[in-house]
Amino acid sequence: MSKDLLLNLLLILTPIFVYQVFQMERVSTKKPHLDQWLIGLLYGIACDLCMVFPIAFGEDFLWDLRWVPFLIAVLYGGWRSGLVAALLLLGYRLYLGGGISFYSVVVCLLIVFTCTMLIRRRYLSYNRSQKVLCSLGLSLTTFLFMMASIWYVFDAKSQVEYLVGRGCAFYWMYAGLYMFAMTFSVLLIENLMESARMREEIRKSEKLNIISDLAASIAHEVRNPLTVVRGFIQLAQSTMDEDNRRYMRTAISELDRAEFIISDYLNFAKPELEHLERVNIAVEVRNIVTFMTSYATMQAVELTLDVEDTLYVFVDKVKFKQVIINLVKNSVEAIRQGGRIEVRAHRNGDCVQVTVIDNGEGMTAEQVERLGKPFYSTKEKGTGLGLMVTFRIVEAMSGTLTFESEKGRGTQATITVPFATKKDNFKRRNHDAGDESSHDE
Ligand code: ADP
Ligand code: MG
Repeated sequence: MSKDLLLNLLLILTPIFVYQVFQMERVSTKKPHLDQWLIGLLYGIACDLCMVFPIAFGEDFLWDLRWVPFLIAVLYGGWRSGLVAALLLLGYRLYLGGGISFYSVVVCLLIVFTCTMLIRRRYLSYNRSQKVLCSLGLSLTTFLFMMASIWYVFDAKSQVEYLVGRGCAFYWMYAGLYMFAMTFSVLLIENLMESARMREEIRKSEKLNIISDLAASIAHEVRNPLTVVRGFIQLAQSTMDEDNRRYMRTAISELDRAEFIISDYLNFAKPELEHLERVNIAVEVRNIVTFMTSYATMQAVELTLDVEDTLYVFVDKVKFKQVIINLVKNSVEAIRQGGRIEVRAHRNGDCVQVTVIDNGEGMTAEQVERLGKPFYSTKEKGTGLGLMVTFRIVEAMSGTLTFESEKGRGTQATITVPFATKKDNFKRRNHDAGDESSHDE
């Protein structure tokens, strides 16, 4: 029996690794639907193989862990995977024999499928320990449903004594194995997903580093000659007639635009925060919003503010200002007519959250995914560097920047940074002082 059991467990774990092999080549998948069908296929096969190699208990009682791969397929792949796995599972079960026992499997499957789909969204938002607890509960519930359907079938055939005869210990073990197999798979999947995410993160930051090195070297070299050209054009203007002056003004405004792009670039290349200090960003946010109100009004946008009074954070004031300006500017640009932007800043536990909400054109999920990539812009005059810089600065403040958006409805950008207590400030100062003294030595 233990051999069969180990084989069943192995069959359940195999799809995880097979999927990993496929997945490795393309970490950020472009075709999620294809992935879901693939998950369904792999776990459906696992369901079938569990039935092909069942676990024998005693002379004639066969059981297996087929519901575990099915549950995983639905949980991680959604209805598409669930559908494929269900078809494969039922197909093979029908091949084994129809009749009442087949129908009981169908009913059980429908119930399990529906329940799992209902909790799926919530499940995916859980953290790891919550997921483990949830999968324990889910596998136990499934086990109970399955037992109920088996009981029903045996009852119909008046063979309940046979089931009772297996003894309590057997059922405990059966349920335990379901829960074990399920939890073990979930833990394994979570770990693999975590490491895939990390790989992706590393890849991204490597790319960014290359760009920022390039940026620093080129941008700096280009900026100086530009300034010189601009100066000479200005000088030459005084000796020109009106027509030529107009051309020169255009030339200067284009030069200014180039200069503007380059400073965005340089900012990106040097996102280190130079003057980190404990700042009450409530004051900063108020100032920035006041200063941007006229800009917003010019575009017929109403800018409102909802800020708590004391929000201490370690930031570089200048860079922080730039972050808020970038976000508000994007929101203004996303609004066609008669829009509203709200800037909120609140404390949330150990963090401070600054949110910029607009009712502009919004973005699709793919667009949100691309935010922060260099040169991604949908605007005619956009540089596609604003958010790239913004992301880098927020990262350097040990914070996170997230976007929620719906096409046609609006966008919400949320910055989350750790709150800085007085004690933190004290520690930091001592730490810096310690650093300096160690440099002196
Ligand atoms: P730019 O503003 O120069 O285009 P950004 O990096 O600031 O570059 O923004 C990149 C793109 O992200 C924009 O072109 C726009 O399509 C999209 N975007 C950013 N913020 C918003 C927003 N609040 N609403 C809708 N789209 C936005
Ligand atoms: Mg912008």
